[in-house]
Amino acid sequence: MDLLASVIKFFESGLFRLSIRLFFLFIVVLWASLIYWTYRDAEKRGALALYWAAVVFVFNFFGWAVYLILRPPEYLDDARDRELEIRTKEVLLGKGSLTCPACLKPVEGDFLICPYCRKTLKKSCPSCNRPLETGWIICPYCKTAL
Ligand SMILES: [Zn+2]
Ligand SMILES: [Zn+2]
Repeated sequence: MDLLASVIKFFESGLFRLSIRLFFLFIVVLWASLIYWTYRDAEKRGALALYWAAVVFVFNFFGWAVYLILRPPEYLDDARDRELEIRTKEVLLGKGSLTCPACLKPVEGDFLICPYCRKTLKKSCPSCNRPLETGWIICPYCKTAL
């Protein structure tokens, strides 16, 4: 009986130690993946990725909870898309400063070509050299037929 009892005890303690180890391993893996997830997420949102990864590393779940509260609400890509959409709408509505129809960068009204993407914006009059809209058939400044 004594032998059986000690064998059971040995298995019990061994299993116990094993489960404790597995538990800690689980915590460490979870911790590491939280740090990794936070780094990637912060990077995508344009937050200070390394700083937040360090916060999660030091404060673990608490740091992660703080990050979830304080992180920027949207991904950088989404913000960029939205900004582009707004600028496109502004161009369509004729609001705001002039922008290149191809790359949407700001251009001046008398630019003949977009300095960012080389898109032809206007042509110059062969007689007076003033900037003309591409669809015009006559120069409104010097009456030269185009
Ligand atoms: Zn352009
Ligand atoms: Zn002209």
